[in-house]
Amino acid sequence: MKIEVVTIGDELLLGFTIDTNAAHLARELASIGVEITRRTTVGDSAEEISNGVGEALERSEGVITTGGLGPTADDMTKPAIARVFNREMIYDESIAQSLRDRWAKLGRGKIPESNFTQAWIPKGAEIIPNAHGSAPGIWLEDDRGRWVAMLPGVPREMRAMLADELMPRISARTAQTSKNVVMSWTVRTTGIGESALFDLLGDLGHTVEGLHPAFLPSVEGTDIRLTSRDVAQAEAVQRLERAVEQLRSKIGAHVYGEGASDLASVVLDICKADGIKLAVAESCTGGLLGARITAVP
Ligand code: AMP
Ligand code: MG
Repeated sequence: MKIEVVTIGDELLLGFTIDTNAAHLARELASIGVEITRRTTVGDSAEEISNGVGEALERSEGVITTGGLGPTADDMTKPAIARVFNREMIYDESIAQSLRDRWAKLGRGKIPESNFTQAWIPKGAEIIPNAHGSAPGIWLEDDRGRWVAMLPGVPREMRAMLADELMPRISARTAQTSKNVVMSWTVRTTGIGESALFDLLGDLGHTVEGLHPAFLPSVEGTDIRLTSRDVAQAEAVQRLERAVEQLRSKIGAHVYGEGASDLASVVLDICKADGIKLAVAESCTGGLLGARITAVP
């Protein structure tokens, strides 16, 4: 299943807030074989939201949005998407009541009138409950089965609703079509530059077991990430194991680990195994190396 993500908020476009929601959505959905094929970020403008979501729906089976569900004038997600689906907005008394209940439970006194804008939803929409905040999520679907799931921008609320409500819903849909997963494994190398590594790999730098390696350089070394798509979990694991084996045998000692392996931990493990004591003398690095090593418990 291919879906797109539209994150909404001026703060994202202005660079004041890093778009962690889109990254989290992609990582979580990969585990159930759902690939995010495109990400769009739009500001708090009804027209931009309508256009962004409308275009995303032309290319995909479903769209997840985050942001713009709050009670203030800059929260325009629901009416903007209602327009894409040609739906009017209706007042949902059950949402209004749950807002009153929430305020009473939290002992917050009189509920601000502006909160009741959150009770307006597109006609025919389903409510996605929000256990951690006041803005409910919305599921809207047309008669062709294309859908938009609207989640709040607040990362804590978005993550909980994704796990509790949206993943099971999307999973049920993908189960009807396939059991495929999107799975990534990483081989970590150090002491060799990205281009030298690529040359060393020869043909394997282009494809290994039918997978295309991605080269990800950083100060500590170059990671090679392999991603399996469109096959079931057991086959993905086998293919990735074979691919990693081939890379390891070609790269040799430059490989220090896989996945989330940490270079300092690997060094310390070797020291421990061989009874080696380590001292560092630093000038320009001003203690960075010592800090890096002592950060490992
Ligand atoms: P909103 O739901 O649009 O009212 O957003 C509420 C808060 O969630 C904002 O103040 C941001 O701090 C945060 N937020 C919104 N969108 C994102 C995002 N894509 N990634 C991370 N944080 C976000
Ligand atoms: Mg916002």
